[in-house]
Amino acid sequence: MNDIEFIVKTIIEKPSMIITNEMSLPAIKKSSAQGCVQPHLLDYEKTCAGFSWDKILHELDGLPGGLGLNIAHEAVDRHANGSRRYQPALRWLGEDGTLLDLNFADLQGQTNRFANVIAALGVHKGDRVFTLTGKIPELYLAAIGAWKQVAVFCPLFSAFGPEPIYQRLCQGDAKVLVTTVRLYWQKIADLRERLPQLTHVLLTDAKKDLSDRLRSLPLCMAHASDKFVIPPTDPEDMAILHFTSGTAGMPKGAVHVHNAVLTHYMTGKVVLDFHPEDVFWCTADPGWVTGISYGIIAPLVHGVTNIVAAADFDAQGWYRILEKEKVTIWYTAPTAIRRMMRLGIEPRKQYDLRHLRAIHSVGEPLSPAAVLWGQQALGLPIHDNWWQTETGGIMIANFPAVDIRPGSMGLALPGVDAAIVRRVAPKSIKVIREPGIQGELALRPGWPSMFRGYLHDDRRYKNCFRGGWYLTGDMARRDTDGYFWFVGRADDVIKTSGQLVGPFEVESALMEHPAVAEVGVIGKPHPMIGELVKAFVSLKPESVPSDKLRLELIGFARKKLGPAIAPKEITFQENLPKNKAGKIMRRLLKARELGMAEGDTSTLENNSETTSV
Ligand code: AMP
Repeated sequence: MNDIEFIVKTIIEKPSMIITNEMSLPAIKKSSAQGCVQPHLLDYEKTCAGFSWDKILHELDGLPGGLGLNIAHEAVDRHANGSRRYQPALRWLGEDGTLLDLNFADLQGQTNRFANVIAALGVHKGDRVFTLTGKIPELYLAAIGAWKQVAVFCPLFSAFGPEPIYQRLCQGDAKVLVTTVRLYWQKIADLRERLPQLTHVLLTDAKKDLSDRLRSLPLCMAHASDKFVIPPTDPEDMAILHFTSGTAGMPKGAVHVHNAVLTHYMTGKVVLDFHPEDVFWCTADPGWVTGISYGIIAPLVHGVTNIVAAADFDAQGWYRILEKEKVTIWYTAPTAIRRMMRLGIEPRKQYDLRHLRAIHSVGEPLSPAAVLWGQQALGLPIHDNWWQTETGGIMIANFPAVDIRPGSMGLALPGVDAAIVRRVAPKSIKVIREPGIQGELALRPGWPSMFRGYLHDDRRYKNCFRGGWYLTGDMARRDTDGYFWFVGRADDVIKTSGQLVGPFEVESALMEHPAVAEVGVIGKPHPMIGELVKAFVSLKPESVPSDKLRLELIGFARKKLGPAIAPKEITFQENLPKNKAGKIMRRLLKARELGMAEGDTSTLENNSETTSV
């Protein structure tokens, strides 16, 4: 048995075993043919050398009459007006087995209607249209319809509780919100008075209007015309607002522009390797950036069929979708892959997965074991790639025809200059050219989907750049052949089940409980969900730690924040470690929790013993 066979056997027999990225495994050799399809990118070096974003622009259409560049035109109208008019564009699989097929002509008509609806409500260029829904067809119509009216689309994760929703609607100056009756009464109704700028709520499941401002979307759509002409759109017009979490302060609204479609198109071509007959399934929730860039834009721009499955994760259910829909390209995430690995079945014996041509993963580190499990269990290695909300699209990837190094995020996208750097006081950086040295992953600004700012927060935006580089906040290494290897976050941001959680947001919510004096929140490594949100709470003198209070605090946080963000573990601790400025040192909380070296403690306020309960 060789090394790889041994590892695969071990992970199948002992799926809980973690194999770290540090394990050095042989590269997986890729050939230039993927079944009977020849990948678009065959020679990585040659493609990089001859690459220019201008050439990519010429592969897109542009608005008729040279009136600019609009995502909705590239994704829908140019296909609907051309030879792909009756090709399936979106196949929606409802939770109860309902199926909805929209071809490009249908999608054009429906999104035209939505654009007319919001135009009639007074939505103009730059106004924000939010959604708070599960994966329902109306979300997709709202996104594309908003881009047609050159409004800004902003999706909210439907599992958020009222507090994160309020923060984002308020910070994002929401003018229109598309949601469902249930979510409205559960999460929004009580916030309405605090959101005066929110002029209309469109309810996808209301048969009639509930008031002037609480309208039935189906009724509005039925009365709207299915003809719409996209107004002139500057490629730099704002198109998408994605909220992401930072280490301090409330979430930041990353601004993206229509020009981002160049990156979506380009990565759809050379990373996901779309071909006209492909059936693509991106499992990401549209509340997050992957669910928009790759759950909507990239596949539609390429005119391929995009599967949207509304149901939550269920391993057997997912295999059934891959089989039944004859998915050819599958884009998913490590949390889901780990859960599928744990199921311990041999999927190829139970399901016909022969249509599958490539599997891609993003959002968290993908262990070498997972890459190899893909090869063993699904017949294909899993291609890891890296990017983040701020980059708007894939920046580092294991390309279809390039050898995979299991555990590595891959090589930089052609047209993207990535480097490992070290911050040097006061405001500069040093590029680390030697391979194998750990530092911060940085990108040279200039790719089309780079965020153009954090809404209303120029200072935070400017702080992301130093010495002509964008600093990603991720620590990584680059090997001699240019492959990047993820090391960890440079800050305290938590990645749980693929979602970024800002510790400050969780701490602020817990601080509102009358028993709580101070809180520090960390991410604790977890074999299944990556990191688990853990809070250390110091109580006010009159409160006594107990299991009952712990459960009460968890419930309190879940109600405010929603289950995706709320802490899953709470430890009561009398004195939280603070620096001399009084700031809670999350780094120390984490080191102590994990039994790791505490590092430099010279700024610690007092080193007295702490009591944990
Ligand atoms: P988000 O902005 O929510 O998409 O999260 C972006 C962050 O997820 C990155 O900065 C990384 O910390 C993490 N991430 C994304 N892709 C990968 C990957 N392939 N390997 C390791 N971490 C990743």
